[in-house]
Amino acid sequence: MAVPSRILRIAIPSPVLHYFDYFPPLDASHQELEIGIRIKVPFRSRNIIGILVAIVTDSSIPSCKLRHAQSYIDENPLIPKSLMRLFLWAVKYYHAPPGEVFFTALPQQLRQGRILKSPTILKWFLSSKGKNLIHDLAILSKAPRQKQLLKLLHQHPEGLSIAQIKAKLGSCQSSLSNLSTKGWIENRESPITAVRDKQFFGEKIIFQLTIEQKTTVSAVLANQMKFQPFLLQGVTGSGKTEVYLEIISEIIAKKKQALILVPEIGLTPQILARFYNRFKCPIGILHSSLNTKERLDTWVAALKGIIPIIIGTRSAIWAPLQNLGVIIIDEEHDPSFKQQEGFRYHARDLAVIRAHQANIPIILGTATPSLESLENAKRKRYQPLQLPQRVGTAKMPRVRLIDIRSSNLEVGISPEMLSSLQNHVKQGNQALLFINRRGFAITLICSNCGFAIPCQYCDSYMVVHQQNYHLCCHHCGYKSSIPTKCPQCTYPILHPQGLGTEQVEIGLRHFFPNTKIIRIDRDTTRKKGAFNKIFEDIHSRKYQILIGTQMLAKGHDYPNLTLVGILDADQMLFSSNFRSSERMIQLITQLIGRSGRGNKPGEVLIQTRYPEHPLLQSLINYGYDYSAELILKERYQAKLPPYRYLALLRAKSLDANTSILFLEDSRNIIMELDPKGMVTLLGPVSASMERQGNYYHAQLLLQGSSRDYLQQLLSLWIPKLVFLKTARKVHWSIDVDPINLI
Ligand code: ADP
Ligand code: ZN
Repeated sequence: MAVPSRILRIAIPSPVLHYFDYFPPLDASHQELEIGIRIKVPFRSRNIIGILVAIVTDSSIPSCKLRHAQSYIDENPLIPKSLMRLFLWAVKYYHAPPGEVFFTALPQQLRQGRILKSPTILKWFLSSKGKNLIHDLAILSKAPRQKQLLKLLHQHPEGLSIAQIKAKLGSCQSSLSNLSTKGWIENRESPITAVRDKQFFGEKIIFQLTIEQKTTVSAVLANQMKFQPFLLQGVTGSGKTEVYLEIISEIIAKKKQALILVPEIGLTPQILARFYNRFKCPIGILHSSLNTKERLDTWVAALKGIIPIIIGTRSAIWAPLQNLGVIIIDEEHDPSFKQQEGFRYHARDLAVIRAHQANIPIILGTATPSLESLENAKRKRYQPLQLPQRVGTAKMPRVRLIDIRSSNLEVGISPEMLSSLQNHVKQGNQALLFINRRGFAITLICSNCGFAIPCQYCDSYMVVHQQNYHLCCHHCGYKSSIPTKCPQCTYPILHPQGLGTEQVEIGLRHFFPNTKIIRIDRDTTRKKGAFNKIFEDIHSRKYQILIGTQMLAKGHDYPNLTLVGILDADQMLFSSNFRSSERMIQLITQLIGRSGRGNKPGEVLIQTRYPEHPLLQSLINYGYDYSAELILKERYQAKLPPYRYLALLRAKSLDANTSILFLEDSRNIIMELDPKGMVTLLGPVSASMERQGNYYHAQLLLQGSSRDYLQQLLSLWIPKLVFLKTARKVHWSIDVDPINLI
């Protein structure tokens, strides 16, 4: 009997929806093949790098057509087994091209084939000659820099990097080379232990936990050997982070690793300092503004088990930890956990899967749980844990609606809001004004004919930006200069319409000429480190009034903040997205949590033209859970998540018709595959903003009452779409569990 040949199944970086099969390399050594290594393979007319996901004996491709792989790159897996299982699950569940899934997660250098080695850094040490001389430095009396440098290295037997030396002594390249020539100092490649060299040297603070905190910690630790999701609901300031720290310390004491995911802008120096000070151990940080070397170092250190703790944003879910003991998702309701383009995954949902695969507990912590998580807790899939009280003396603030129907607003601010602002500022406290729109004004309007300046490429208006004086489309990024006359009727007066953060800032500077004011939005925090700097300045009370967008609502701690003003709640009440009411109660609740976190009582004022709106009323009078319950009832009646499962097929093309034609063809295939109509189809329809970035967008929504059935249908349906003639003229993508239907 012939020995069945080994066939390598490989994920290749291409938008194709399947894996590729190859024979092993012809002249390869007979290395013990392990899943998860990189392999060089011929693909079309070049050689590229793929990842081995399986070794099989059968292929749907006839063996005369199979090619040989070229060579192995790794001996040991680059993707550990634990992560491989998550990748395979994600490819299947999100119906995404395997290459895209595998390769978006890998650091760039590894995608390009860099050989894996432990992260190292060049460090300087005293040589043995230098050590002998250190107590008699008289011969260096004419070279004070060299003397300083020797002393410094003597104090740091663990060695110092160039950057560390520079931070302490300034640039001293010539002293380094002189001492090195004399043989008094030497350098060696040393493993990086603290992946981030910058350490926070603070005191290790361990609080005596409150009874509620202790109960929460014990509940989780009692389940540390098995899969158990916890929904930890605690108002801001109730001590959730302290609970995380306690659990992590138990887990890493057992030589296991902890993965913590936070929202995109949740990684402040403050939270990192709390981790560093508590653990005094290397902590890996993964977020989007790392450079490629930092990302690679952290990734490799995680893989090699050098770091026990990883904290990161969405993509840190792909950290190659081999010995996970716990996963924590902070602010689990935050929409930034969902990737909204390319490979559209939800990091929170994947985290639950990862915890299940690793058989470990996972904590979803938030003051405002997503409706999905609330429903999961009701169905006993998640164990609910509560921290209902703020720690210490801090009390929840007083919340009041301001009816602005007959108010005389100035830059969007009512007289009541203004006088409250004056009071809080006079008492030396901080105040925050929230408006969820950056820029100066929503658009420019002609005073004569009412023409509003549109974007050339989108069905939207150009936003006026005072900073740098230009117009900008917030959908496609197109910029233009501010016209001096109306493009339609040539009338010379155009006026800005609708408020943005810039206008509020300018108005407030007028009302408060002697008060320090800061605006916090994407425009003022674009530069690397800018947000952290502003954040530190707020803490040191450099500013008294903060104006900002939802960036300010996240779980940051502002101890001196006593007033929160929401300028325009109505904008969130009437949006076409079915999740907007959920977002609204989350945002307002989070904002309420920002006020009065120290010992000072807080106040929250919400301006609205709809003070009787049931959702606003229920939120103010009965709180988050009650309001969430109301929205859940609506979702149930409207057959929306979490009571139905959704998948959205999106298409865009250069003319309006083509996308719709493709979606109609796609719809016809489903009707054949699902003749009983178990899955409801909505569409095709044009997207609510049809033209974006010069493309016409349209969509087809699938709505199923069984996740399994919907998944089965998707796996039969999606591979067929590739063969549609109309598919060639459109860009299409599938979004499983979309959070945005527009
Ligand atoms: P959350 O993550 O829920 O917003 P934190 O863990 O940040 O809450 O706690 C809020 C504040 O209370 C922090 O300043 C923290 O240092 C403090 N704190 C937390 N737990 C305790 C405790 N058991 N005793 C004293 N202070 C605590
Ligand atoms: Zn545009």
